Amino acid sequence: MEQVDTLVVGAGVVGLAIAAILSEQQDTIVIEQHAQFGEHTSSRNSEVIHAGIYYPDNSLKAQLCVTGKALLYTHCERYHVPAQKIGKVLIATNESENEKLHALVAQASNNGVTDLQFLSTAELRTKAPEINAAAGVWSPSTGIVDSHQLMLSYLNKLSQHGGHYVNNTQFIKAHFDGEHFIVTLKCDEEVFYLKCKTLINAAGLFAQACASNIDALAKHHIPPLHYCKGQYFSYQGKHPFKHLIYPMPEQHGLGIHATLDLAGQLKFGPDTEFIDQLDYTPSEHAKPHFVEAIKRYWPKLDSTRLQLSYCGIRPKLQLQGAQDFVIQDHHQHGIKGLINLFGIESPGLTASLAIAHKVAKQVYATQ
Ligand SMILES: Cc1cc2nc3c(=O)[nH]c(=O)nc-3n(C[C@H](O)[C@H](O)[C@H](O)COP(=O)(O)OP(=O)(O)OC[C@H]3O[C@@H](n4cnc5c(N)ncnc54)[C@H](O)[C@@H]3O)c2cc1C
Repeated sequence: MEQVDTLVVGAGVVGLAIAAILSEQQDTIVIEQHAQFGEHTSSRNSEVIHAGIYYPDNSLKAQLCVTGKALLYTHCERYHVPAQKIGKVLIATNESENEKLHALVAQASNNGVTDLQFLSTAELRTKAPEINAAAGVWSPSTGIVDSHQLMLSYLNKLSQHGGHYVNNTQFIKAHFDGEHFIVTLKCDEEVFYLKCKTLINAAGLFAQACASNIDALAKHHIPPLHYCKGQYFSYQGKHPFKHLIYPMPEQHGLGIHATLDLAGQLKFGPDTEFIDQLDYTPSEHAKPHFVEAIKRYWPKLDSTRLQLSYCGIRPKLQLQGAQDFVIQDHHQHGIKGLINLFGIESPGLTASLAIAHKVAKQVYATQ
């Protein structure tokens, strides 16, 4: 049976970042069930480098977003990953939203995001032309990144360190013998076994399913999973925006906001819809809701230019309220060498390197 120090399950942006960092010190393999890496959430998101504004005090999301953002900009520069710090404008369209905007600025400051600036009416008009806003705040450290190139850079780092990426290979189950994990994997209908000291479950929307197939893990350590779909519409043709425009956040997401990709293409979304099964099919039915939400802050929207685009699915751990990333090690579940990552929704892309360093620290602490 082949043996390796660390097996990472899932080659999304988080699993790849973890494998890239761990491979600096350990023999590391990352497996992916599909032919390509990053086919799920990591290629179905807004590609925004978040500043770290929204998350509750001392949450993992706040800490890992703020440190992750800095690590990510440095990484992108060093490894030539396309990224741009284009900034975003947070807008309040009326007085009650203005209160929310002030609360967000205070929350951001608690999280260590101290570069937000209230905009004057003239500045608002320049940074967010045609936008209907009672007040606006500028976030200069928000940016955009090419998520595919980012994952490729993690993959390159992994292979430079002698680590391995194996596609078309599915984690089936793991047996813990008190020291090692004996992992059953499936590749092209063939089953084989791998022994590892450290097992990292970074399977995203499948993390709960993988965890439930680790024999030593008590079921009460596996949180519930709720799929929360987010859909996008792209905007065809010219538009006046150079920065991202964010209305006030909603209960499960950041509101239907306007983002740009590195080619300057404008898109709107994601909305939020809880669904029962993994289904990435976008639906035209959402259009009236999008038009209404966008027109609240961009009354000049030409709705005929909105084109149905793509969907992503958030791995929510609960149906209501703020929720944090869950990164479990033996302190929580008592199994030495096992780390489970659950609920890695936004800002997981931004935080990917910070998550990787945190996981690496947990791994080294137990060896
Ligand atoms: C709509 C939406 C918008 C978002 N926007 C942003 C944003 O702008 N900025 C930001 O910072 N974050 C954003 N996020 C969050 C970010 O995309 C995720 O946090 C991140 O992509 C999660 O990466 P991951 O590696 O954990 O999961 P995934 O990308 O889902 O990767 C998990 C991988 O594990 C593999 N896998 C699963 N089971 C097995 C198995 N049994 N064997 C082998 N492989 C397996 C899967 O095939 C998959 O490739 C957004 C998320 C959504 C849904």
